[in-house]
Amino acid sequence: MIKKVLKFGGTSVGTIDRIQHVANIIKKEQGSNNRIIAIVSAMSGKTNELIKLSKNISNDFNKREYDVLLSSGEQVTCALLAGALINIGVKAKSWMNWQIPILTKGEHSNSRIINLSTEKIDDFLKDNGVAIIPGFQGISENGDVTTIGRGGSDATAVALAKIFKADICEIYTDVDGVYSTDPTKIPVAKKIDNISFDEMLELSSLGAKVMQSSAVQTAMMYDIPLEVKSTFTNRKGTKIFNQENIDYSKSVTGVAYSKDDAKVSILGVEDRPGIAANIFEPLSKSQINVDMVIQNISSDQKITDLTFTIKRDELSKTISILENNKQIKYQKIVHNDKVSKVSIVGAGMVSTPGITYKMFRALSDEKINILAISTSEIKLSVIIDETNTLKAIRKLHTTFDLD
Ligand code: ASP
Ligand code: MG
Repeated sequence: MIKKVLKFGGTSVGTIDRIQHVANIIKKEQGSNNRIIAIVSAMSGKTNELIKLSKNISNDFNKREYDVLLSSGEQVTCALLAGALINIGVKAKSWMNWQIPILTKGEHSNSRIINLSTEKIDDFLKDNGVAIIPGFQGISENGDVTTIGRGGSDATAVALAKIFKADICEIYTDVDGVYSTDPTKIPVAKKIDNISFDEMLELSSLGAKVMQSSAVQTAMMYDIPLEVKSTFTNRKGTKIFNQENIDYSKSVTGVAYSKDDAKVSILGVEDRPGIAANIFEPLSKSQINVDMVIQNISSDQKITDLTFTIKRDELSKTISILENNKQIKYQKIVHNDKVSKVSIVGAGMVSTPGITYKMFRALSDEKINILAISTSEIKLSVIIDETNTLKAIRKLHTTFDLD
């Protein structure tokens, strides 16, 4: 007998038919002698709809009430799924965040799960019951409802898998696994059977949308094996686990991209010690996350150009912080938000020389100009013109034998 946490995302529970379908999956899983805890998202589109309602009242809607509002989406799916299970003869029960309770820490809309009491639910599982638990939410120390960030049901699933000491956490979604790149854009993309936590973490933070990156991080930290699989087909999914168990025949595992970056250049800035610190300190104090940084060599040792990238939606805030920064002198600030970040990721890169040059050559063959570069042991990212995104992904996918 093994204990499983199964998480069903918004599209998997998007209609009554789908909820009934999910109930059948759970029935089958439980019938194979498993103990099942199911975590559910809100029906697809629901959370966005609730956000819109709050905006109709105010763009600065009260934070406590915002979480009460947003958490209601998952309550609906919990009840519908538990009801659907009972209807097909499976013993099931839903618990709300405050009934368990799921304790969280941190500010509203951005809390994180720290603990919960498992006893009642474990007793119910032992008694052949299926426990249905809402994703994305909890309560604070003083009993207020909290939410844990958009897409947070993945994080709930992983946290609960840890706290309940589950043997595996399965993420049911609308694709049948993790692909070597976005299969909706690149039809030759291939499903990956096994991937390491590190690679998955890079892929999801670099733009792959299958799983929330903080959830992957938690799974990695506590060594909780994950499987991403489709609610709608029976095909095998992608297993995500510890690197030691994976055999790397390829240096690159996947190509990810995102279009949420912007590039800022400060031209003609003084070249002396302390300047970079003076530029970046106020940005970091305002919680602006700087990703890549490039400083040119100055030919006269007096002035230079400095380029960096940030999240696109923080561009105007960044520019205004720079313009109000009395500590720096420069000639001009230019920025570009029509850029994309394309990355290759692979744990096999560590042991394969020449990956960097191969990537740059491939892009130059396509006449794609590289605007910024960043590397780590298992990834290489470049910033390019947004219009070249697809061309770049296609080329890199072929170059690294992923088609
Ligand atoms: N319903 C929440 C959202 O849409 C949480 C989730 O789906 O994971 O962000
Ligand atoms: Mg979701």
